[in-house]
Amino acid sequence: MSTVLVVEDESAIAELIAINLRHAGYDVTVAADAEAAQREVDRVLPDLVLLDWMLPGQSGLQLARRWRTEARTRELPLIMLTARADEADKINGLDAGADDYLTKPFSPKELLARIRAVLRRKAPEALDAAVEVAGLRLDPATRRVHRRVGDATLEVKIGPTEFRLLHFLMTHPERVHSRAQLLDRVWGDHVFIEERTVDVHVKRLREALAPVQCAALIETVRGAGYRLAQQLSTLAA
Ligand code: CA
Repeated sequence: MSTVLVVEDESAIAELIAINLRHAGYDVTVAADAEAAQREVDRVLPDLVLLDWMLPGQSGLQLARRWRTEARTRELPLIMLTARADEADKINGLDAGADDYLTKPFSPKELLARIRAVLRRKAPEALDAAVEVAGLRLDPATRRVHRRVGDATLEVKIGPTEFRLLHFLMTHPERVHSRAQLLDRVWGDHVFIEERTVDVHVKRLREALAPVQCAALIETVRGAGYRLAQQLSTLAA
């Protein structure tokens, strides 16, 4: 389930957004100011943040700027909400690092469409689209992984954590992910889970992929983390 953090001080608006998002299947957390939002993000990195511009204390714009300077939150999908429709404000919002910008009032339908568009671009692992790498296909909707070899379809038996890990790696192939990044994006927790937990699940994932000859897709990058190769090398295959 995709997680959305709604940062909005007007409780009626926050509640309305939360109801609509929950109805659409999102897991929603609400924060009423920048400090509360920061605490939430420090705890668990959400898949996406809806950030109101006008907040008491630190503004949404300042918070967005700060998040963009920090490694952990630099890529955090972020949609700015505002009552200000000025072109200059919109440009300021996008300059501060927002991925999109919505002017109040907006319809729930438009909000959901924008969220999906930003997730598709920045966090495809949060969506239900099937992914395929090197003949290996993962379908979040059915929670199945299989590989087609000739006429046969070989099913991969895989645990829920390994499934999420594989989904994240398959939607971000060729990139090296540190253990801390994987904890953030797959487990949603970079503080209270030990980094060697990642190694344990990578080992299980390789074991799950071995029967379909895909274990070698998961590469260890010494001193850096893990990477999913776009294709199997001929040696490994
Ligand atoms: Ca506000």
